[in-house]
Amino acid sequence: MQELGLPKFRAAQIHTWIYAKNVSSFDEMTNLGAPVREKLKQVARIGCLEIAHLQVSRDETRKYLFQLPDGKIVESVLMSFNDRTTLTACVSSQVGCAVGCTFCATGYLGFKRNLTAQEIVDQIMMIQRESGKRIANIVYMGQGEPLLNTEEVIKSIHTLIESVGIGARHITVSTSGVIPGIERLRDEDLPVCLALSLHAPDSKTREEIVPITKKYPLGPLIESLKDYADSTRRRVTIEYVLLAGVTDRPEQAKALAEMVRDVHCMINLIPFNPTENNLGEIMYERPSREAQLKFKQLAERTGKTVTIRLERGTDIDAACGQLHNKFLKAK
Ligand code: SF4
Repeated sequence: MQELGLPKFRAAQIHTWIYAKNVSSFDEMTNLGAPVREKLKQVARIGCLEIAHLQVSRDETRKYLFQLPDGKIVESVLMSFNDRTTLTACVSSQVGCAVGCTFCATGYLGFKRNLTAQEIVDQIMMIQRESGKRIANIVYMGQGEPLLNTEEVIKSIHTLIESVGIGARHITVSTSGVIPGIERLRDEDLPVCLALSLHAPDSKTREEIVPITKKYPLGPLIESLKDYADSTRRRVTIEYVLLAGVTDRPEQAKALAEMVRDVHCMINLIPFNPTENNLGEIMYERPSREAQLKFKQLAERTGKTVTIRLERGTDIDAACGQLHNKFLKAK
């Protein structure tokens, strides 16, 4: 505002129009006056993303590919659930991902770069503008490992809470297990929810499917999760992908229950959604419904709440990385 020779209070007005009122043009900022709006149009634009592609599923899940200012692409998903009246958006925190989980389509893209806080927040703003709907819940579960981009993720969370008006308790950060990131998030003292993508209760299996386990082993990881739950007094979520014959064995369900016995948590089981790797191979299979229910029952033995994830958008490519991979192949 100073550079444009405008009074400082204009900045706060514009901030409110963009984040709290989510307008898409300067013309909608009716308290600014026409000359100010014209000046702004000449030097600025609202938001930094373009919609590159949009898929809408029969259950109204909306999957977006957003183009970033440097031409790179990220994915976001908007979901509604029958038992909820509110909408949940899943956002990306990086372009690609360095963690390389073997069951994940994004893992096959490799790591390209971190997103800025602005690029993260803009995913939410763009989804709200395109869909005309208000988002109530946000999960950092799209492309990338949020806690390998911790500072920008924390900055984006502050904007979402303080400027967009989303409650901290409605924001979930999901990690593959980056211990320094968990500690950093704990120290920021934001009452956001933390989800750990555990996926296996034994080191051998976990090292195979979530390679970052070699750097951050299971024992210290569960300790840091417990510490997060105790310090923030928030119940954490354990995400666990069920891969037939790999992570769905009865002894693994029992080991899982024991492993998190002392952690204030719930367990969310995710039956695998078959994904092609970059060679077009399907690496894993989905367990039968019977195997899923058996696993659930055994995982409940130490008294934790265990749920099986309700899937959205299965008729589109709603699993993380799927649409992006197809889009890149088609180009
Ligand atoms: S599951 Fe998450 S952490 Fe693992 S490769 Fe995919 S995006 Fe990265």
